[in-house]
Amino acid sequence: MGTVAVLALGANLGDREATLRSAAADLAEAPRITLTRTSPIVRSRPVGGPPGQDDYFNAVVEVDTELSPFGLLRACQQIEERHHRVRSERWGPRTLDIDIVVYGGLRLDEPDLTVPHLHAATRAFVLVPWALMDPDAVLEGRPVAELARRAPDLGGLGPDTVPLLPAGPPAAGGAD
Ligand code: ATP
Ligand code: CA
Ligand code: CA
Repeated sequence: MGTVAVLALGANLGDREATLRSAAADLAEAPRITLTRTSPIVRSRPVGGPPGQDDYFNAVVEVDTELSPFGLLRACQQIEERHHRVRSERWGPRTLDIDIVVYGGLRLDEPDLTVPHLHAATRAFVLVPWALMDPDAVLEGRPVAELARRAPDLGGLGPDTVPLLPAGPPAAGGAD
């Protein structure tokens, strides 16, 4: 087995639910990535960025991967590109955003990749679905569920969740 990583998915343009489902399917099919767990989808008010943006739909997924941290980043960016993500304004609307939240226990601070993700510990839209997926999850020694309760944007999360993937056997992994 490879390294267990957690990825955060967000969408706030177009058919947001469909985009997240299709991104999860893309991850499940990607070479050297096995999708092991998924959270439900939560809804959140945008944090920062230009005013007037639509709500985000967010989810997190757990993968087991044989890719390096940068290989995984590249794979995530390829899936973003497949969903016609246009990079314009920072924190502006986007069809799909995929961030690496954690990559095993690795700590990395490179210009293009910081893990754990710089803001993971303070973002309810990451922490809440993560705790729903894995109630025992820990980030840098602190329970994710507890971090979620303290996150400043907790009030911006909608009360309802939607399944990301239909219940059933775990998705098949990519070619090994
Ligand atoms: P935020 O990082 O605040 O969530 P964002 O997701 O909107 O912002 P992007 O425009 O998607 O930011 O990405 C900017 C750059 O962040 C990417 O080109 C990537 O190299 C870098 N980056 C650094 N750490 C990570 C990480 N853990 N996951 C994904 N991208 C990262
Ligand atoms: Ca992001
Ligand atoms: Ca990103």
